[in-house]
Amino acid sequence: MSLVDVTDLTVEFGPLRAVDGLSFRLEQGAALALVGESGSGKSTVAAALLGLHRGTGARVGGAIEVAGVDVQEAPEEALRRLRGGKAAMVFQDPLSSLDPYYAIGDQIAEVYRVHTRASRRAARARAVEVLDRVGIPDPARRSRSRPHEFSGGMRQRALIAMALACEPDLLIADEPTTALDVTVQAQLLDLLHTLREETGMGLLLVTHDVGVAAESVDEVLVMRHGRSVEHGPVVAVLGSPAQTYTRELLGAVP
Ligand code: ADP
Ligand code: MG
Repeated sequence: MSLVDVTDLTVEFGPLRAVDGLSFRLEQGAALALVGESGSGKSTVAAALLGLHRGTGARVGGAIEVAGVDVQEAPEEALRRLRGGKAAMVFQDPLSSLDPYYAIGDQIAEVYRVHTRASRRAARARAVEVLDRVGIPDPARRSRSRPHEFSGGMRQRALIAMALACEPDLLIADEPTTALDVTVQAQLLDLLHTLREETGMGLLLVTHDVGVAAESVDEVLVMRHGRSVEHGPVVAVLGSPAQTYTRELLGAVP
């Protein structure tokens, strides 16, 4: 069974069909990038994988299976267990996922407790452990910092730490490095690579930047207007793109 199995996915926002008959799979331990220009439907797909369109008025069709969960049919409780548990997601802007008033370590500990029912003490220890894992220096002390006391790159690391807390099988990263300068971006991509090797988790990377995809994944799926225009190994698709659109994306690499 694949880690992610999406068949004929459609997502409609009123009259707009943002995702239009998309199918793909991701095997355990593999890494796939969804690339495409802004507005091509990448984030809509990422959100659909965790059932985040439920109750929003968006219409979602097709079959979505993630870490053994039938996302279309599963009760809300099963989706809550999936999110941040077996499948975790990090977004472009860590501040949108972190509470400004609480210490970062407490926020990670809280997510961990929700999923594991660990004691407060064990959850705090787990938070420090994952902060250390993602390269936060002096993690026991820094775990008491609030988000604004971290640099952008450190906040993104903290968010990855939060995602790692419950040992996910799948990490969905939606433009995780887009807001960062090039040096910090490279460090974070390195970190994702190392974590993948250490944990064997699958990675679904969403990015408009083909260069980022080329460095980070095995396979790419090129999206345009909610459809797949090209899909295959990075070397094949980016090395000799069959579609003009893909060539244009490659030409846009800074
Ligand atoms: P990408 O991540 O590739 O930039 P998105 O998935 O965010 O693209 O958006 C795809 C299309 O769906 C865009 O036209 C966007 O404006 C539209 N869209 C995304 N979310 C919503 C929403 N909640 N309501 C209405 N339209 C949306
Ligand atoms: Mg997006």
